[in-house]
Amino acid sequence: REITSKYEISDRVGSGAYSDVYRARRRSDSLTVALKEVHDYQSAFREIEALQTLQNCPNVVLLHEYFWREDEDAVLVLEYLPTDLTAVIKAAKMDGISVGEVKRWMVQILRGVDACHRNSIVHRDLKPSNLLISADGILKIADFGQARILLAPGFVDDAAYNQFDEQPSSSQAALPRQPEVVPIPGGQLTQESVELGSEKCSGINDFPNDIDEDSITQDGAISCLATCTTSDLEDPFRHSYSYEDEKGRVDGNGSLTSCVGTRWFRAPELLYGSTNYGLEIDLWSIGCIFAELLSLEPIFPGNSDIDQLGKIFSILGNLSDEVWPGCVELPDYKIISFGKVENPIGLEACLRNRSPDEVLLVGKLLCFDPASRATPMELLHDKYLNEEPLPVDLSELRIPS
Ligand code: ADP
Repeated sequence: REITSKYEISDRVGSGAYSDVYRARRRSDSLTVALKEVHDYQSAFREIEALQTLQNCPNVVLLHEYFWREDEDAVLVLEYLPTDLTAVIKAAKMDGISVGEVKRWMVQILRGVDACHRNSIVHRDLKPSNLLISADGILKIADFGQARILLAPGFVDDAAYNQFDEQPSSSQAALPRQPEVVPIPGGQLTQESVELGSEKCSGINDFPNDIDEDSITQDGAISCLATCTTSDLEDPFRHSYSYEDEKGRVDGNGSLTSCVGTRWFRAPELLYGSTNYGLEIDLWSIGCIFAELLSLEPIFPGNSDIDQLGKIFSILGNLSDEVWPGCVELPDYKIISFGKVENPIGLEACLRNRSPDEVLLVGKLLCFDPASRATPMELLHDKYLNEEPLPVDLSELRIPS
């Protein structure tokens, strides 16, 4: 009731794995907002905590306030963002997209992810449909329902950040960054509740049939393989794959679940069942997103998890201890075997008509070895983003309606 007294709800604008999103008008000042009703307690908790931590980043969606309902659903009041990067890519297929525009989208994505990683927040589901865009072209990372705060320190170079950090443009500065957040009845968010290893699995709707479940001997996150059924993937941008272990099996050492993210953007270490991955999984996802911005087609559109790895190998070549030292130790390394790809397609062929610097940039993210992937800050300093044609001003971006 408190919500409807403050907000007038109009149409439903989206729904996700655990949520329904409505457009609404704040009665006090007629501001248009998005009300995100989250039906999963853990997901709501994660999203609220991450968004509160990231309130000062212009490239992360703004949380105005939130409410917990008696049924444990949460309602998040978010700034309303009318479009997303999926729509930009779709429009670019018709109207084209300039190098300067591509660069401006990239810079905004990198700044948003840099803010997450500086706070040791791994998003775990980066994809074009979770990169929302305001009417004036500001890209904001959204949907932190799968985000986790990693307790291990991130790899951020503060000195480098300060050097790069620009004054926000006037439209960024004009955005309200002072949310009124209502406290959760019964207590505050605590670090304890997000400690690693407290994962529970639910919402399983996809996992490969190609893996013989008898051959799975691992406990922990990998065990969810045996409980999943494959479903068709008609519109993967609209689906999140959040298969946490419904049996609550984790390995007891504080591991993370490998069943996160949308398949096309999922890092190889996750596909191989890693449970001690880090921020680098987001860097792989950004690599896939950048490749798609450049070619306007998804780079690895796998239709099962095994097919996903097959698509990756067909372009980048096979996995080996040389390209990824220690990969043989991955939980599923021995149960997933692939024939040798004799002539990998290579990123150059995938990104036909793009410049060598662009191919190089994508290659810095799509590295098998997580430790070799470039950080957002390194990429913000990359030659490509700092030479002509420079990223266009926000006002020059074409925003799909
Ligand atoms: P889920 O966590 O359940 O996947 P999302 O946060 O991705 O939910 O939201 C689902 C859909 O709702 C999005 O794809 C988008 O279309 C819409 N949506 C989410 N947040 C906003 C927002 N702040 N403004 C406008 N639309 C939004």
